[in-house]
Amino acid sequence: MPFRPDEMQGARPGGEIDYRLARRHLIAEHKRGRLARGEVCDAHPELIRAAREVGDVTGTDCPICEEHKLVLVSYVFGPRLPAFGRCITKRSELQAFNRRAGTYTCYVVEVCPDCGWNHLARTWVLGRGDAVSKRAAPSAR
Ligand SMILES: [Zn+2]
Repeated sequence: MPFRPDEMQGARPGGEIDYRLARRHLIAEHKRGRLARGEVCDAHPELIRAAREVGDVTGTDCPICEEHKLVLVSYVFGPRLPAFGRCITKRSELQAFNRRAGTYTCYVVEVCPDCGWNHLARTWVLGRGDAVSKRAAPSAR
């Protein structure tokens, strides 16, 4: 089954979720021993692969293993995209969405490719926001 970042804990498009607060809570619960490592380090194999191949390595240490740097992986969901979203491999791809008709949501997930920690870092909306024509291909406009 493909990985779907929109199904992650705390992922509610358009919701008022503070991802950093949810993240801090999970990390604290793990440190207190209330959540096992396997419960917080459960990254889908596809997410780990994306992190290794196309992710943006950050300067931030993994909050769980504290041995490796976190990697950010971005997915975009919206009209004419696969149900499991499109994994963004280049910054220019994201910019291109702002010229497309329709509304898209970008999910940025932080991942530790080594221990499997993963959490939604942020989401934002992109695209022109106008209606997507049901017939014309996006490039035909
Ligand atoms: Zn880690």
